[in-house]
Amino acid sequence: MNGLMMQKQLLISSLIVHADRHHGDTEIVSRRVEGDIHRYTFRDCHRRARQMAGALSRLGVQLSDRIGTLAWNGYRHLELYYGVSGMGAILHTINPRLHEDQVAYIANHAEDQYIFFDLSFLPLIQAVAGHCKTVKAFIAMTDQAHMPKNAGIDKLLCYEDLIAQGLPDYTWQALDEEAASTLCYTSGTTGDPKGVLYSHRSSLLHTYAAALPDALNCSARDTILPVVPMFHVNAWGLPYIACMVGAKLVFPGPALDGKSLYELLEAEQVTLSAGVPTVWQGLLGYLEEKGQQFSSMKRTIIGGATCPPAMLRKFQEAYGVAVLHAWGMTELSPMGTVGALKTKHLAMSADERRAVQSKQGRALFGIDMKIVGPDGNELSWDGATSGDLLVRGPWVVREYFKSAGGDPLQRDHAAQGWFPTGDVATIDADGFMQITDRSKDVIKSGGEWIGSIDLENIAMAHPAVSQAACIAAKHAKWDERPLLIVVRKPQAQLERDELLAFYEGKIAKWWTPDDVIFVDAIPLGATGKIQKNRLREQFGDHLIGRRP
Ligand code: ADP
Repeated sequence: MNGLMMQKQLLISSLIVHADRHHGDTEIVSRRVEGDIHRYTFRDCHRRARQMAGALSRLGVQLSDRIGTLAWNGYRHLELYYGVSGMGAILHTINPRLHEDQVAYIANHAEDQYIFFDLSFLPLIQAVAGHCKTVKAFIAMTDQAHMPKNAGIDKLLCYEDLIAQGLPDYTWQALDEEAASTLCYTSGTTGDPKGVLYSHRSSLLHTYAAALPDALNCSARDTILPVVPMFHVNAWGLPYIACMVGAKLVFPGPALDGKSLYELLEAEQVTLSAGVPTVWQGLLGYLEEKGQQFSSMKRTIIGGATCPPAMLRKFQEAYGVAVLHAWGMTELSPMGTVGALKTKHLAMSADERRAVQSKQGRALFGIDMKIVGPDGNELSWDGATSGDLLVRGPWVVREYFKSAGGDPLQRDHAAQGWFPTGDVATIDADGFMQITDRSKDVIKSGGEWIGSIDLENIAMAHPAVSQAACIAAKHAKWDERPLLIVVRKPQAQLERDELLAFYEGKIAKWWTPDDVIFVDAIPLGATGKIQKNRLREQFGDHLIGRRP
């Protein structure tokens, strides 16, 4: 017997309808590419998103057409989040930090019909426009007064002119909830980028789960500033969550340096922010230099790469900001786990609690996870045994866009209903997962695994270290040994032996890195993560020929 409840499709447009009806006067504040601060409300956003949907229909955009964006976090991007998906087309957010060949590859692979772009990305559009085979026009996200002159792009349109052609009484499409809503490519650190195609249903379920108290803990009393970009995995779902719960949104636009972020956080009295560790490094550096404190920030979500325990401690103890350490992937929409404490942890000492918080955390309801050994058998949740992390759930990718079934490994796991994350992890008895490495970054010394993340966390706890990466360097006797690449803090004095001595007593002796290389900068990828493959190319032979 079926239940007798209404059948209502889970659609992205319902989020902005809800925000308009129930939180219509809640503000959305954006720092614009043009330099000024723009303010309006969810009601205004809903009206303009409908106008944009109407304008796209008049342009001839059809159901399931892909519409690309190359844009910062801002209100026009938000209008496209709702306008494009709400009319049944697919919003394809493109990461502008990718190499121009990859941007062209992605636009062609997705068969984008139109590409919207912020003015900062005009040079990128000029470089790729001639290579984008399916794009009918490029739309500059600005008004007539700021339109570029003589840009040399065929079919260049102006956002404000386009939106003016749509009617605000557009009614959202009654779509099937399984319809595709959004497309995001992985940043392709190995091979070509792969497209993850989210549905309205998967996005809505992710929004419900990610907003919960033990996840991102968002409410109508929050003011949220997503530093995580809307061009990569939907800014961790925050543009949807804010509409669902009625939180005020603050968008930083292109200004992501410590000073600009701090000023905006303070001016708008932000309570919650989210970003990758490298961004927070800049903000913390600024606060330290200026001796400033936060007056409103209560929580920050750190994810995308391991949150160094030293950063966790600084946020919590020096600035009174609670850290939520989260793990996810493009393939998971992206939230998988969050390190929210349980009652039993509250009685622990601050050090013990921080050790729990430093783990990547517990699975959100909806995400099922397990770790397996090389034979595919499930390993125990003892917090010590590490294995390949597999996940499944209604917002986990089933197969990549136009992948014809995926690679053999993926096919194998997918057939059994699990997605192999490529991460190596432990899970403890309380269900807290801890990433020890990405499978391709693991260091295999004499057949034993050494987790590079532990070694990096220790280096990051040294007061003179600004950034640290540990890679597998080829070794004549042990095959691979850990090699530490370090950026010192400005003006700090630190030499190899002092840093290596800092490891004493903190790890098994044989885990200690064989050498340290000091560099001016560590290469970061398109999502702000350390590019270990480039470090391996550059320094992988450093230990060869040295005495064992
Ligand atoms: P890409 O960087 O290739 O686009 P994603 O942005 O989807 O990929 O990143 C996913 C990967 O980032 C994960 O598989 C994991 O290795 C890493 N990652 C994400 N969050 C964390 C975290 N909190 N701690 C450690 N690693 C993380």
